[in-house]
Amino acid sequence: MVAAAAMSWTVGAEPPRRRLVPPLNVPERVTNATVPIIDFHTHLQRRVTAEYLIERMDSVGVARMVLSPLYYGDSPDGRYINDGEGSDEQAVDYARRYPDRFIPFVGMQRGEMNYPAFWVGNRETVRLLEDTEAKLATGEYFGMGEFMLRFYPYKTSQGIVAPSDMDYPPFSYAMRKFSDLSAKYRAPMVIHAEAEPKVNEGMQKLFEAHPQATFVWAHNCGRSSAKSIAEMMGRYSNLYADLSMMVYSGGPNPEGYGVYWPRRTEWMHLVVDDEGRVQPDMLELFNSLSARFMIGTDTAHARVYEFYSRRLPRWRRFFAQVSEEAMHDIAYRNAERLFRPT
Ligand SMILES: [Zn+2]
Repeated sequence: MVAAAAMSWTVGAEPPRRRLVPPLNVPERVTNATVPIIDFHTHLQRRVTAEYLIERMDSVGVARMVLSPLYYGDSPDGRYINDGEGSDEQAVDYARRYPDRFIPFVGMQRGEMNYPAFWVGNRETVRLLEDTEAKLATGEYFGMGEFMLRFYPYKTSQGIVAPSDMDYPPFSYAMRKFSDLSAKYRAPMVIHAEAEPKVNEGMQKLFEAHPQATFVWAHNCGRSSAKSIAEMMGRYSNLYADLSMMVYSGGPNPEGYGVYWPRRTEWMHLVVDDEGRVQPDMLELFNSLSARFMIGTDTAHARVYEFYSRRLPRWRRFFAQVSEEAMHDIAYRNAERLFRPT
């Protein structure tokens, strides 16, 4: 039944039904300290329980969390620790048990995607496309991600190693097919792609070719400049950005996308200074295009959830600086719109 309904769908028609997320309960008066937050960019790992996540969220006023399963495992020789091994089924299980707290995505951090042939289209591509469509058709998944296209390897002070220097073209067979699924199921695609010139060009080709798809370009459009983001958002109404990790900069040895880490390129633009003050051109961007941004803590590995609460003060500080309208939009309203399209 589901497959037949999905196949008869055409662009512009009602998409197949999705589970209804209960409306978010927002008190009449909120401030930057109390505004409910939807953490749009996190990663689900096998060994974090739903209850543990909820406890962490409750301690800092996070109402909902997107769960993007991190499939990567540790290397057999123990050299690379990923702290991952999450799964789509795990994400849906958490959402069934706590439907107003978790928003499951189909995970796109999988070992089989870390080969050039996957993006050109091989047997694995076909399998994953079919599998993803079957999952989206159940109505229990709300998006896809994080697609890893241009990614710089790193090693953190906690011993997490992400060894792959990834450089896959955004305008590829695989990305175009996933974009079709995004359009068909109104499922946003979260994409990690550092905005080097070639990457930027490919991303724009993709947005152009798939106006019905919904793109969320992570880390403030791969750390693009305010000017470039404003131009692209003016051109593509289907482009959103998440600001995951972009407000973290403090401490003697900061690790995260809010600084020039894990390497510095001339195409990188930061959102805040060392004290967490939003740069004037970025502030202008978030206030004028506030309907296009979401926040995210980008908690990527299981052991890092222990420090989840440390990842929120900078966001509260961020909300104190943007306009009130932008605070509501960016903290929860834009995410809500994507989960419950009208
Ligand atoms: Zn990312």
